[in-house]
Amino acid sequence: MISKILIPKNHPRYCSLKIREKLVEGFEKGLVAREGLIAHGRGESFDYLLGEKTIEPALKSIDAASALFILAEHPVISVNGNTAAICASQICDLNRSLEKSSVEINLFYHTHVREELISTELKKYGLKKILGIDPNRSTQIPELESNRRKVDLDGIFVSDVVFVPLEDGDRTIALKKMDKKIITVDLNPLSRTALASDISIIDNIVRALPRIIKSIEYHKKNSTKKELKEIVDSFNNKDILNESLDIMRSNKMLSKI
Ligand code: ATP
Ligand code: MG
Repeated sequence: MISKILIPKNHPRYCSLKIREKLVEGFEKGLVAREGLIAHGRGESFDYLLGEKTIEPALKSIDAASALFILAEHPVISVNGNTAAICASQICDLNRSLEKSSVEINLFYHTHVREELISTELKKYGLKKILGIDPNRSTQIPELESNRRKVDLDGIFVSDVVFVPLEDGDRTIALKKMDKKIITVDLNPLSRTALASDISIIDNIVRALPRIIKSIEYHKKNSTKKELKEIVDSFNNKDILNESLDIMRSNKMLSKI
């Protein structure tokens, strides 16, 4: 067991260190794979370049993502160990705000124990139905090997829109080949997932999820189906990725030294 240190609130990396703490706790409980800790480190390095703030292009992606979520007939929220460890409660909030959605557990490093632990974690926040865990309702994504291709017959398999935050590129590309519309949250604008998705939100999932939920609530009250379609149709993911990279390149920190 790793002992906790008290992080002062005025520490410049306070939020980042708190997320790390949650991830390490998740690892100790068995929710997060060792490789998940490394994947988080990759994300952190890009967050550094963003100044650990939600940037303008991410806000545009969030707007388009919430429009697509509302328009979807069968949206699925895919959850892995890292997502469960750092934002299980917001995932459940997102599911509540979308009337037709379901939550499916999908693990890159699959074990039944981890699946059970993630399921228990999600239930703590009121989630009753969890897909991806019943072997009798499991099928396979074509063109992917091993456990990574497992999907639920009542979930991703029949979905039209899949939300795959912090996802591996191979799976995202395979889901695109199945004709799914893909929304991701990924701090790396150059990852294969960010490149292959229809809507990439280049932001930390911890910051992005509350904004996605707010945007869904706003559009549910204020926008027509036609307006939502216009938002989705006018969205260009390549532009968003380029704008995000430009912001990272022009990071102002160096000029302060
Ligand atoms: P790809 O397989 O898409 O090319 P990768 O192999 O570099 O990407 P993976 O480990 O497969 O990375 O996927 C995890 C992704 O999640 C990475 O792109 C990483 O930057 C991103 N990531 C990690 N932590 C966070 C976080 N807290 N918020 C948003 N994105 C994150
Ligand atoms: Mg990968």
